[in-house]
Amino acid sequence: KTVAVTGASGYIASWLVKFLLEKGYTVKASVRDPNDPKKTQHLLALDGAKERLQLIKADLLEEGSFDALVDGCVGVFHTASPFHDALSDPQAELVDPALKGTLNVLESCAKTSSVKRVVLTSSVASVYFNGKTLSPEVVVDETWWSDPEYCKQIQNWYVLGKTLAEDVAWKFSKEKGIDLVVINPSLVIGSLLQPTLNTSSSVLLNLLNGAETYRNVTTGWVNVKDVALAHILAFENPSANGRYCMVESVAHFSDVVEILHELYPNLPLPTKCADDKPLAPKYQFSREKAEKLGVEFIPLKESIKEAVESLKEKNFFS
Ligand code: NDP
Repeated sequence: KTVAVTGASGYIASWLVKFLLEKGYTVKASVRDPNDPKKTQHLLALDGAKERLQLIKADLLEEGSFDALVDGCVGVFHTASPFHDALSDPQAELVDPALKGTLNVLESCAKTSSVKRVVLTSSVASVYFNGKTLSPEVVVDETWWSDPEYCKQIQNWYVLGKTLAEDVAWKFSKEKGIDLVVINPSLVIGSLLQPTLNTSSSVLLNLLNGAETYRNVTTGWVNVKDVALAHILAFENPSANGRYCMVESVAHFSDVVEILHELYPNLPLPTKCADDKPLAPKYQFSREKAEKLGVEFIPLKESIKEAVESLKEKNFFS
């Protein structure tokens, strides 16, 4: 069976490609620059890559760029999307590639009859940025949707781009009869396969390289292996449908610092919050749908340990 993965060199996608190869799939993988060893070497070194991995150049902003990638594939995993802080032009750097890129990929899928299901990597960014008050009793689940107007108000362009992209994906798929399943991960941490630092790993790294303060933020956390496996479960299980929030636990940065301290008592960790406002409130995320799909979440403490060990091994901190 042949499947396609967009943005294959990325943090989550690298694990997805690894697991797909391990399961015997032939993988057509898109990268922006097939000649950049930093983006390809770790993929080409995976077990099974020699025989069953094909790298194809594609860019989210080029129309028709994904035609050759998805042609002949039964499944398409669309993970590519910029995940970094906006530099000078958030619309061009974050919103357009997320939104137009998703449409581009789906348009290519609609052109071929081989594609039976598309799994889209969305985010909890599309789920709970709507201005509702969060508190320990609130349980966020897949029925929630972020509000684009609220995203603009808080000037979070990454969140806006992900929200618009998922929204357009559902509308386009319905119109064209594409079988779409969506994965909505929270902040993803754990071991890195790629040699470069991705944004969500850098969030953890920022606590490890001598910072004095931690952010006053409460967020969901999940292991990268669980996220990658959820994509495969969503593709393989015929009854998988709709969205799947992927949140192992919701924790404030102070909780994460506490876990880091338990695991590594000798590390110089931040000791105080970045502001003196009350701590951002806890809330809950439903794990029910993901667990029904077959996800067995790796506990946060283990994910943190895997992330730290990997960041250390790759010399991101000493
Ligand atoms: P990475 O930055 O590691 O991966 C992003 C991938 O998208 C890279 O392969 C990148 O290619 C590709 N990409 C970006 N812009 C373009 C473009 N214009 N054309 C083609 N490819 C492009 O991040 P993650 O692995 O963390 O993210 C993967 C997906 O998961 C994204 O959709 C992200 O929004 C989503 N997500 C991530 C979370 C996290 O905490 N990590 C949480 C929730 C969702 P290149 O390497 O060439 O830059």
